[in-house]
Amino acid sequence: MEALVAQYKLAHKSVGFVPTMGYLHEGHASLLRQSALENDVTVCSIFVNPTQFNNPEDFLLYPKDEVNDVLLLKENGCLVLFAPENDFVNEILEVSLDLKGVDKVLEGEFRPGHFRGMVNIVSLLFQIVSPNKAYFGQKDFQQLFIVQKLVAQNFPEIGIVASPTIREESGLAMSSRNARLSAAQREQATKIAKALHLAKSLAKEKRSVSAIKEELRFKFFNNDDLRLEYLEIVDAQTLLPLTDFSFPSRSVVCVAAYAGKVRLIDNMSINS
Ligand code: AMP
Repeated sequence: MEALVAQYKLAHKSVGFVPTMGYLHEGHASLLRQSALENDVTVCSIFVNPTQFNNPEDFLLYPKDEVNDVLLLKENGCLVLFAPENDFVNEILEVSLDLKGVDKVLEGEFRPGHFRGMVNIVSLLFQIVSPNKAYFGQKDFQQLFIVQKLVAQNFPEIGIVASPTIREESGLAMSSRNARLSAAQREQATKIAKALHLAKSLAKEKRSVSAIKEELRFKFFNNDDLRLEYLEIVDAQTLLPLTDFSFPSRSVVCVAAYAGKVRLIDNMSINS
């Protein structure tokens, strides 16, 4: 991979990079197309990084389909697939990045070690692929935030491009984990996006943060079919949960919930 990238650099070709964990869907495809538009060469990586899974079952059950992944890559302008073997994990090194507590809220609170694992693998991939630009989805809002901090500190030469969340017709955010949902669970899971939309309209009506959270909990997460892990409205600049009435210029409602054993996350900007 490094030799190939060196050739592209010699030929003055720009490289766009889309890191993924595979089982690709339209959300990934949108990142790939954006990269293909903006760069001479698009590289996609597929690696399910065990060090960012705090739940071993979630890691073991993570869906895989390399044949379909390759088809999707070809159809969406990707030229190179970098799919290292499992022992790639041995190459991962600890990266020091002071996240000032941002890795302890939201996902960080419920998935200890997740962001450390993510930062380490993304750093390794950035070193190897050495892209001009890298593409990340807003679906993983906190990940994007932390990657921006990582790049500011360690990879200032890489431009980070944020892409909007792609949703199914039902509103459900596309995710590789959706493949593990039964029909009934999928139905339940659509409530997450409904809750986010309601948060947005209640914020427009100037309802307080606590009133919005209470109404969402009551309307959408009142039974065990969709078990809420967290529901927070945060300042997009700091990721700190809001507690008062005054919304900053950009705030985001973030949800994690379980449909059966499948953990789903989603978010929406509530004042854009
Ligand atoms: P993953 O394979 O889930 O690790 O995701 C790889 C990249 O695709 C990350 O930058 C995700 O944020 C992005 N992504 C995943 N799902 C979506 C989606 N529904 N819309 C846009 N981007 C997404």
